Amino acid sequence: MKVEKFDAIVVGAGLSGLRAALELSKKWKVAVISKVHPVRSHSGAAQGGINASLGNTLEGKDDTAERHAYDTVYGSDYLADQDVVQFMCEEAPKIVIEFESMGTPFSRLDSGLIAQRPFGGAGYPRTCYAADKTGHALLHTLYEQCIRKEVIFFDEFFLIDLIKVDDQITGILSMDMATGELIIFRSGYVILATGGFGRTYKRSTNAIINTGDGVGAAFRAGVPMQDCEFVQFHPTTLYGTNILITEGARGEGGYLFNNKKERFMKNVASKAMELAPRDIVARAIETEIQEGRGFENAYVHLDLTHLGAERIKERLPGIREICIDFAGIDPINEPIPVQPGQHYSMGGIATKFDGRYCETPLAGLYAVGETASISVHGANRLGGNSLLETSVFGRYIGRLLLEKGLAELPSIDKLEKAEEAAFTGIEDLFNQWNTNSGKRPVEIRDEMGIVLDTKVGVFRTEIALQEACDQLAALQKEFENVQIPTSEREFNFGILRNLELRNMIDIAAVTAYAALWRKESRGAHSRIDYPTRNDKEYLVHSLVFKTEDGLMLKTKPVKLGKFEIKERVY
Ligand SMILES: Cc1cc2nc3c(=O)[nH]c(=O)nc-3n(C[C@H](O)[C@H](O)[C@H](O)COP(=O)(O)OP(=O)(O)OC[C@H]3O[C@@H](n4cnc5c(N)ncnc54)[C@H](O)[C@@H]3O)c2cc1C
Repeated sequence: MKVEKFDAIVVGAGLSGLRAALELSKKWKVAVISKVHPVRSHSGAAQGGINASLGNTLEGKDDTAERHAYDTVYGSDYLADQDVVQFMCEEAPKIVIEFESMGTPFSRLDSGLIAQRPFGGAGYPRTCYAADKTGHALLHTLYEQCIRKEVIFFDEFFLIDLIKVDDQITGILSMDMATGELIIFRSGYVILATGGFGRTYKRSTNAIINTGDGVGAAFRAGVPMQDCEFVQFHPTTLYGTNILITEGARGEGGYLFNNKKERFMKNVASKAMELAPRDIVARAIETEIQEGRGFENAYVHLDLTHLGAERIKERLPGIREICIDFAGIDPINEPIPVQPGQHYSMGGIATKFDGRYCETPLAGLYAVGETASISVHGANRLGGNSLLETSVFGRYIGRLLLEKGLAELPSIDKLEKAEEAAFTGIEDLFNQWNTNSGKRPVEIRDEMGIVLDTKVGVFRTEIALQEACDQLAALQKEFENVQIPTSEREFNFGILRNLELRNMIDIAAVTAYAALWRKESRGAHSRIDYPTRNDKEYLVHSLVFKTEDGLMLKTKPVKLGKFEIKERVY
């Protein structure tokens, strides 16, 4: 059994993982483990931008961190924890300037300052961007810095499970994907930065690697999942492939039309129109389609033609390329066919109520970025706030741990016993997976995706959610006897896809279970049978635990603050 030892282990090389590692590398020996090369992480696909109240534009000159915090809390339908939102918004200008000083090529105003565009639910143009390739620019910046600081990377290493002794984390069990060898990484600090779990849905803008592996591992280790019923459906994904068409396209002035050539957003958000928050726009589009005012009963039009060729080429070059390559249309001349699709996981690994931000109930385990629910997005995330969250809290964790000092590990015999148990446990599981009978993982995965798309989608009901819970439980049973093509270990994608499915199937069940429990409509969670918000009973976070008798739900208070609770209208 090969054991690697580090002061801290970061799992995930997206923006949150890299930012944490960069900070920790100032003093410690730190390893970053990633199942893909770091710059292939989903952060690199982010298009629209990162929010900070810099006030660089004329229209935005009065913007402040306080206003940013207000928009975020209001946008979250009051489920965000106000202390952590406040912290994030105050850090935002500093984090963007830090990126600028590290060399991120932001788009510029004529004045030379970083350009900012309007985004949904924001009172001012607050979203800083690098054309429509912001994530790519930020991720490459951080990767370069990590290389410079000699962070140690284990690329194409797969986190399988967490290892703990009593209630203290002691490391992870991983697989070197090329050789199939199982390797233990030992450390008293593990930071999970494994991104979202959007691929549980079939229609998703997420990369195929977004399978919630960190979330699944934490859940199995006894850490609860928080607010998983809140799934962000992006209003504008390209019909056919569900590739994201950034909110920046509406930020630049794009219109949404139904088949009657009406800008239907006037019916639901007469002031904000196309720039209402995502949950509201997604519901409006879904309603147009369901009531027969869409095209082919499947999509509406996002029209950019009035923006002119020059602006589209300068500000939205990537979107134009995507439309030409994947839909055969040029948005300079034709509208883009769009429909809502899963986009972001507001829920994730629960953090402690009275702990430091990102601290989980398992000592030494931290969660950051999309994998965590800390919670800055509450029931609905505003566009541009996620890239911000990753880097603000990545840096925060780094600083926090350096301040706490190195972790003490349990005695060596306890450690080795726990590592041995993790090792043999997974070998047993591999032996249980059959090479010649049972369903193939892809079949289970497809069925799971369709159940979530159709029964845990934009609009939800008791009956559909109950059916989803039952069907997902049946799929979990079938998974126990899943088939893999070969038990060879070297680069065996059968095993890897199965390990991903093991995580996804659990999280899919948690999503449906929490959605069934929440009998109200708040943010992205819209129940047709309970159409209004119910602050009296449900102004709480949901926490779902894995127990021997199945799932168990508890609640956790929301940290309220200075922003008074009101109805949400745009
Ligand atoms: C298409 C798209 C566009 C977006 N645009 C924007 C935007 O403009 N603005 C904005 O604010 N937000 C945007 N978002 C959301 C935002 O990009 C993500 O929430 C954020 O980048 C997530 O960063 P992260 O560091 O948490 O995880 P990720 O960047 O997803 O990285 C996850 C890392 O974990 C690793 N990993 C996962 N599982 C394992 C495992 N088992 N073993 C080892 N490693 C593992 C992966 O290899 C990867 O390195 C967008 C999202 C999408 C999908």
